[in-house]
Amino acid sequence: MVAQNPFDNALIQLKNASKYLNLDESFWTVISTPKRTIQLSIPLKKDTGDLEVFKGYRVQYNNFLGPYKGGLRYHPQVNIDEVKALSFWMMIKNAVLDVPFGGGKGGIEVDPKKLSKKELENLTRNFAKLLSPNIGEDIDVPAPDVNTNSQIMDWFEDEFSKVAGKDSPAVVTGKSLENGGSKGREEATGMGGFFVLENLLNTLNLKKPLRVAIQGFGNVGSHIAELLSKNDYLVVALSDSKGGIFDQSGSGFNIDLVKDCKEKKGRISDCYCIGSVCDLAAKQKGDISNEKLLELDVDILIPAALENVINERNANNIKAKIILEMANGPTTPKADKILQEKEILVVPDVLANAGGVTVSYFEWLQNRNKESWELEEVINKLKEKMEKAFNEVWQKSQEKNTNLRTAAYILALERLSEKFKLSS
Ligand code: GLU
Repeated sequence: MVAQNPFDNALIQLKNASKYLNLDESFWTVISTPKRTIQLSIPLKKDTGDLEVFKGYRVQYNNFLGPYKGGLRYHPQVNIDEVKALSFWMMIKNAVLDVPFGGGKGGIEVDPKKLSKKELENLTRNFAKLLSPNIGEDIDVPAPDVNTNSQIMDWFEDEFSKVAGKDSPAVVTGKSLENGGSKGREEATGMGGFFVLENLLNTLNLKKPLRVAIQGFGNVGSHIAELLSKNDYLVVALSDSKGGIFDQSGSGFNIDLVKDCKEKKGRISDCYCIGSVCDLAAKQKGDISNEKLLELDVDILIPAALENVINERNANNIKAKIILEMANGPTTPKADKILQEKEILVVPDVLANAGGVTVSYFEWLQNRNKESWELEEVINKLKEKMEKAFNEVWQKSQEKNTNLRTAAYILALERLSEKFKLSS
């Protein structure tokens, strides 16, 4: 990975879009710095009895449009610049989707795979306790992100409720169904990306089958893989942090089998599943690195892992015609320029992966109104939201003659500056 400060990259993206708008100085000042940055030392008593202290963060970037909103990431690479960038992207994303939230993000610098379940629970509870004065259903609402899930959100909510002295389901989203989570939340990010892609194909009049490579097989990558393979796309390459597989025959992997296999074996490179078999012999010729996966000659490339993976070193080698950004910040600004010259269409993260926070919004509404919506209702509302956002971004890009990322930013900045004017 190219070591780049993701927040510097986020500010370059902001500058690119601001050229199209007549933003006043004071708005520019507030929009280019986070409102509040919280840095924590989180103690954890390990199973061995030793005490270890972890670095934790929450950045509350901006709340013009509503409470700060965004996930909590547990990863060894989490640092303040990354969290700042991720909170900034949440602000833009929420404005693009027109959901009434500001931008926030948090995380802990930790490899959760090295913790026992009890340690993971206690670390989460200690994090929630330390953050509790600064969060709340009308203040800041966390959610899952890389390496965090509904179980972690349940612990977080439980600990916050204890401190608050009352049941507080709407303080986090992405909870389990038994604990006030929304139907459809788990698959929402992948599904939102799928809706955006379908709209794009319609707009461009592109016909399936199309060959897809997906980097990352966590919650987002696995759900979008499943949806695509059920809807006449051919998923020919997949990877996780340990490596990847490529189906040279072009018939596409059986995602249900790959999912089962990955659960059992723990790594996707042992899950070369095509048709009705997972074939370890075929795996040898199908092994592919994460780097090479990005450069495959496919129609659609989906980065669904971490930031900066498409950068000035490899952008020239990308052969896909469409990149659907399901990770946050996978493409650097330098790479963006190269891709544009190569006429590769990039569907930006702030639109493509916004399905997660959109259903988080639905969960927040359900919790507050003591409702529980059926899955069909959630999916229909998500589809409607994603289609509207896609059309607005597409139109803006036509109107301003820009790429889709800049168009999305223009749309978001128009909404944010309008609110800023009204409130100042
Ligand atoms: N972590 C997700 C994202 O990056 C979801 C955030 C949320 O639901 O608040 O969009």
